[in-house]
Amino acid sequence: MLRIHCPCCGPRDHDEFRYAGDASVVRPAHDDPDFEAWYRYVYVRANPKGLHREYWQHVHGCRQWLVVERDTATHTIHSVHFAGQQAS
Ligand SMILES: [Zn+2]
Repeated sequence: MLRIHCPCCGPRDHDEFRYAGDASVVRPAHDDPDFEAWYRYVYVRANPKGLHREYWQHVHGCRQWLVVERDTATHTIHSVHFAGQQAS
């Protein structure tokens, strides 16, 4: 069981959240014609062992979008902040 410390609501079980993907993926520009860049953006994901930045949404709480930095080997959560904010 993961406990995610929501900046709005405090520590909550991960059942209250929805995993929403890799937060390190960068979307190509809207008018970028590079097929390979769009292919990588849509389909290609790393499966790292260790620190990973992930989007989570607190769907059964404040509904905020969060960036959670989690160790995929130990499930230790190193940081949580609102999506769109710089990590502190
Ligand atoms: Zn919350």
